[in-house]
Amino acid sequence: MRHILILGGTGEARALAARLAAQTGTRVTLSLAGRTRDPAPQPVPVRSGGFGGAEGLARYLAAERVDILVDATHPFARRISQNAAEAAALTGTPLFTLQRPPWAPGPGDRWTPVPDMAAAAQALGPDPARVFLAIGRQEAGAFRAAPQHSYLLRCIEPPEPDALPGATVLTARGPFSEAAERALLQTHAIDVLVTKNSGGSATYPKLAAARALALPVVMVDRPPLAGAAPDVETLLAHLAASDPRGV
Ligand code: NAP
Repeated sequence: MRHILILGGTGEARALAARLAAQTGTRVTLSLAGRTRDPAPQPVPVRSGGFGGAEGLARYLAAERVDILVDATHPFARRISQNAAEAAALTGTPLFTLQRPPWAPGPGDRWTPVPDMAAAAQALGPDPARVFLAIGRQEAGAFRAAPQHSYLLRCIEPPEPDALPGATVLTARGPFSEAAERALLQTHAIDVLVTKNSGGSATYPKLAAARALALPVVMVDRPPLAGAAPDVETLLAHLAASDPRGV
């Protein structure tokens, strides 16, 4: 029985876990960072919390006799992906990576690409604006550098009390429809949207809504991860191609 450890925290990781769990001769463990107090249910056994860096992950791989490591974490979860590469190299564990491709602007989109959150805060410009931050709670503090704006911050769980003083916080878990996103942008009279280029369909409706309202978007880019499969089917094909049993 081969043991596959999936580093998760994404919808794709959950879908992949369900597909692999259905394969005979495969045992799957899904790993979550443990940040969300009420995580979505998962189709396989879950372990939760950090491993203690690359060395900790390497120790886990050895102790739990993991045969294959799959990095299916979020495109912006960079540290765990780096740890996965290091731990795989340390232990000689085959590593497969699943990462959805980034979004690309289409006709009617008014996107300003920026390399990080600090640049996003700068890109909002000097004049006060009503800004919708659809970036999660962890990096909201970057916008303290641009206090002239009013912020609407949406996240699954409330941020630390002083993360972004004065911001209006909206706690909600997606997916959200395009109509609901448009209504939100209009209700709060939003001038500009800030988002990470996460890719995928689940969080795309806010961008369609911004396009429909001709609103500008500040888009935080990510460096691509070399060799990553762009979807669950491709990742399964990569795994099957590497399996001498042809599973
Ligand atoms: P990160 O900066 O890359 O990782 C920080 C630390 O959290 C890692 O060093 C590791 O701790 C622990 N960790 C992260 N993912 C883990 C996992 N799947 N299992 C066990 N430990 C994990 O990650 P992040 O950006 O804070 O994201 C945390 C989690 O949320 C990830 O699982 C990611 O897939 C999910 N997520 C992130 C975003 C985002 O925008 N960043 C969005 C949606 C979902 P140790 O070093 O102690 O092992």
